[in-house]
Amino acid sequence: MVPPLLYTKTKESIMSEPSFHEASRAASISAPDAPPGKELLLLQELSKSAYAKLQEQFQRVNQNREVGRFNYLLDPILQRVEEGVLFVSLDGMIVLANPACAFLVSRPLETLRDMKFWDLFTDDYFGFSLREALTFGISHRLIYKSFASKELEISSAFLSEGAKSLHGLLIILRDISERQRNFRTVIQEDRMKELGKMAATVAHEIRNPLGGIRGFASLLYRDLCVQKPLQEMASAIIEGTKTLERLVGSILHFAKPIQIQLQSTDLGAFLKETMKFVKIDPSFPPNMKIALHIPHDLILVPIDAAALRSALLNLLFNAFQSMPEGGILSLSLLKLEGMCQVLVSDTGMGMDSALQQKLFSPFFTTKKGGTGLGLVETRRIVQSHGGTIEVRSVPSKGTTFTITLPLRR
Ligand code: ADP
Ligand code: MG
Repeated sequence: MVPPLLYTKTKESIMSEPSFHEASRAASISAPDAPPGKELLLLQELSKSAYAKLQEQFQRVNQNREVGRFNYLLDPILQRVEEGVLFVSLDGMIVLANPACAFLVSRPLETLRDMKFWDLFTDDYFGFSLREALTFGISHRLIYKSFASKELEISSAFLSEGAKSLHGLLIILRDISERQRNFRTVIQEDRMKELGKMAATVAHEIRNPLGGIRGFASLLYRDLCVQKPLQEMASAIIEGTKTLERLVGSILHFAKPIQIQLQSTDLGAFLKETMKFVKIDPSFPPNMKIALHIPHDLILVPIDAAALRSALLNLLFNAFQSMPEGGILSLSLLKLEGMCQVLVSDTGMGMDSALQQKLFSPFFTTKKGGTGLGLVETRRIVQSHGGTIEVRSVPSKGTTFTITLPLRR
């Protein structure tokens, strides 16, 4: 990027230049018959031009000193900036690349230096033809390109000395993955809010006529006691309306924002008590082993006990339901810096990645008679505590759900 050092001459070397000597020689030529004024004028002219050249040379020396100073400042900046910087000279040689650039293009820094661009990348690697850009002097303002796991914003500009002599193309790369992710989340959240409102309106509109259908079907059921086949049809209608009412109830429940009351709670004791609820459930298999890993020291966490218990019971029930042949159901508590983690693990059937993607979608279930709402509700509760929930699972080996909660709110 910075022009190579053009001159590194000293004052002494300049004084030994031919132009300097010309002036001195002229001064020593003595033409006895020439008028002394003319000789003096010639000498004056030559020494003037030698002086001008001398001045020019000194200026260059100073400029080079500036360039050196500039390099000294620029280098540490380039080492530290988050933006990737790449400079390609007119013949396609990569003259400069900083560590951020090496990271963004996933190449070791040493392999980027003094290489022809095209020996490492395709011509349109950055979303524009480099050959074209170098040949016709084209700059690009903002190009967006997705790489394996990154989204880059790319811009380029010619660096030139003077209007006509272009030295090459400066390419700046910026990782905007995080910004894009946040943007998408905001859009998704807005869309979910809108969908929630719409679902609530639809559910509300369905509820009233549904009540009417159920009421009339119940009357028919009562009056058709002598006509058994018709009475059975009325009974089927009643059952159908009950299912729809449950569904409508769930939609209305999820459309409402969750209300929680936080209270500082001894989380270890709370988890031990929660496990007791699981053990006394009639559906809890007797061949199941339980492992509790709760540290002795007191871990106080602000929680809504009723809501968090319901979230944990959803996870614990799913866990033992995934081990119909028995296994180990573990509940662990870990204290970390400013937060704590609750882990619910099983040694059950596990899930492949396709199933894991759908886990938190409302009404997704693989169980006969499942609602597909347990995990949606669990996540809502955890998020209302300012926490997160993650899943790790290996098919036929088991699953671990990790809830992370802040220690302070
Ligand atoms: P439901 O339990 O009614 O099916 P959930 O939202 O609780 O609804 O769970 C959704 C689905 O996620 C389950 O049907 C099951 O396929 C899967 N799942 C959840 N937890 C586990 C687990 N611990 N092991 C294996 N699969 C699980
Ligand atoms: Mg469930």
